Amino acid sequence: MPNKIGNSAFINTTMKANDIHAKKKFGQNFLKDEKILNEIVDVSECDKDTLVIEVGPGLGSLTEVLCKKAGFVLAYEIDNELIPILRENLKYYDNFDIINQDILEADINSDINKYKKTFKNVYLVANLPYYITTPIILNTLSKTELITRYVMMMQKEVALRLTSKPKTKDYAAISIAIQYRGIAKTRINVPRTAFIPAPNVDSAVVRLDLYEEKKYFPKDEKLFFDLVKASFTQRRKTLVNNLGNKYPKEFIYQMLENNGFKQSIRAEELSIDDFIKLSDYIKEKLV
Ligand code: SAM
Repeated sequence: MPNKIGNSAFINTTMKANDIHAKKKFGQNFLKDEKILNEIVDVSECDKDTLVIEVGPGLGSLTEVLCKKAGFVLAYEIDNELIPILRENLKYYDNFDIINQDILEADINSDINKYKKTFKNVYLVANLPYYITTPIILNTLSKTELITRYVMMMQKEVALRLTSKPKTKDYAAISIAIQYRGIAKTRINVPRTAFIPAPNVDSAVVRLDLYEEKKYFPKDEKLFFDLVKASFTQRRKTLVNNLGNKYPKEFIYQMLENNGFKQSIRAEELSIDDFIKLSDYIKEKLV
């Protein structure tokens, strides 16, 4: 069985033979480094009891390594030109299927349910298209609870934001949205030279393990996320300034004082628990 999909000779030959070019609009940067492909699959710790959801299989480099380790790989690829190539490249594997669809449009939960029966775990493993990294993660998290682990290659800057803690420069609303659901860690750093074509940025692989039991309980989840989003509108501004259009200023000053925060506090200084405290206060006093 060949295992040569993930190297530069194979990628270049395949593109030439099929007269295709990497499409920028679909974020196509094909991974050519076999060592990194193996590391990604190792980090996922998938096995024959695992159903893997892959976003954007491309020419099938990561998919092939996944097929060897996982029970089944269900891949979503938006680019219909790649579908026959993928089928050809992966014809030796019978534990693989492709859905030719935009992942953002997919009914992932019902797709997983069709395949899940015999698998203990469902993990998402992907070299994500960078132009929609955050929408893919947030959209998938909101659509299904069947996936319990996410192993994702993304732009290094985005990886930093996802995994950052309060009082660091990369801490953002997305750090909270992700860490509200689980533990996120950067596991592999990947140089831009590992891809064809090489992107303009370096990359990193993040593993997100979702909490088995819900960990945080704001009284009103929507209000909590609205508060987080509004608080980070302009990083350099204080909470009072960022929230000034949403709530009366006097109320915000009072809220900070009553909860033991200084008046000049900024969003990046607040933990998830702090935001819960504040959103519960708003719920109680205002809503
Ligand atoms: N997995 C391959 C690899 O590692 O070489 C390709 C990764 S490439 C960074 C991203 C892949 O996602 C491309 O194949 C692209 O066509 C696909 N893609 C882009 N947008 C997508 C979307 N909305 N839904 C599904 N696939 C998408």
